Amino acid sequence: MAAPNIHSSGQPTRSCATGMRCPSCGQTFELTETEAFCPDCSRCLDVTYDYELAAERIKGLGLSERPQNIWRFEELLPIMDASAQARVGQYSGFTPLIHAQRLGAELGLSNLYIKDDSTMRPTLSYKDRVVSMSVARLLELGKSELGCVSTGNVGHSVSALAAKAGVPAYVFYPNRLEPTKARACRALGARVCQLDGNYDEANRECRRLGAEVGLEFANISLRPFYSEGAKTEGFEIIEQLGWQSPEHIVLPAAGGTLSSRAHKGLIELETVGLAQTAHTKFHIAQPAGCAPIATAIISGDQEIHPVTPTTIAHSLAIGAPGDGMLVVDAVRQRGGVAATVTDAEIWAAVDLLGATEGILTEPAGGTSIASLFKLVEAGHIGADDVTVAVLTGNGLKTIEDHPDKPWLMGIPCHVDAMRDALEQLREGATAGVGA
Ligand SMILES: [Zn+2]
Repeated sequence: MAAPNIHSSGQPTRSCATGMRCPSCGQTFELTETEAFCPDCSRCLDVTYDYELAAERIKGLGLSERPQNIWRFEELLPIMDASAQARVGQYSGFTPLIHAQRLGAELGLSNLYIKDDSTMRPTLSYKDRVVSMSVARLLELGKSELGCVSTGNVGHSVSALAAKAGVPAYVFYPNRLEPTKARACRALGARVCQLDGNYDEANRECRRLGAEVGLEFANISLRPFYSEGAKTEGFEIIEQLGWQSPEHIVLPAAGGTLSSRAHKGLIELETVGLAQTAHTKFHIAQPAGCAPIATAIISGDQEIHPVTPTTIAHSLAIGAPGDGMLVVDAVRQRGGVAATVTDAEIWAAVDLLGATEGILTEPAGGTSIASLFKLVEAGHIGADDVTVAVLTGNGLKTIEDHPDKPWLMGIPCHVDAMRDALEQLREGATAGVGA
């Protein structure tokens, strides 16, 4: 049944979404309502599903008939209008799950896997999963402009996915970000505005602006839909492991959407009978300079205490994480832990990952890998445990921040000089030469 404010092509998806619910007071809302937050508790609404129907529909369509993109299990995603869904996310998702044997050897882990969203299409970060849902929802609502507030990667996703859908995009950035990221948004045709405030301040004012002028924000007013896209990370990890849920998943945390919704995704797979997932522990990785979620987990707090971020991992620099307590609950329910790592440890992990697996990740990914070391050292992960570490973004985007290493420069272009140079490179004796 199409409601008046939904722009419907008449063709439904297979979605089994039934409505939205406040996770705090339990108040329910129709999917046709444009409310994103509970008017009483201010909590972001959570999309609900008819899981019996979903199980039936999932059984009715084989894996080989399903697209290899984020819409693969559309029964468990919230978009109802097939024409809106068809305009976004067709090339996103199904990033590689890589058996990281060389990095695993460094850690003493035989079954370490990397879920590599640094190769995500179209913009090389996990955010293409969540923003795809926002864009589809925007189109479903018949709206024609999209805004976002971003620490970097959301801006890329909004710029690219809105462009592909033919929708103008407005990207609001806080004061600290990698310049390359804002520049890429402009190259993708988005209009970009950098604000004189940190992410949490920018987020608060964007929320006010959206409400005042009626501009939809991908990660604010469309947040219940945006968040659902993160479940696909969990769906894919389990399917790519042959429907065997791993012992451990290590996830970097910023606002908390990824880990809280990956947790929801795993519960859903079990509910619809696709996999046993209850034993999987979630471990949270945060930079020491912005660790409000990890701190709450480690100290056993019942609330998140906001912090002012000071970390090189800009994409994790959210001091007041909206879904923070959902993450704390997920980690406690699953018996996981949290780790915090310094900026120096993050860069060392980025370099080690690059040198062992040939994957260049951004500091958020380095946070996952550096935390993995701490979890192994502390005995939380056993040598043969199946463990998945999630990389959320690509290091090409943050290469300007990356501490450079010495290299040889100004060598005469002649075989004699090059023979000497090669000898120096072989010996690794490049320190101070042209660095
Ligand atoms: Zn409520």
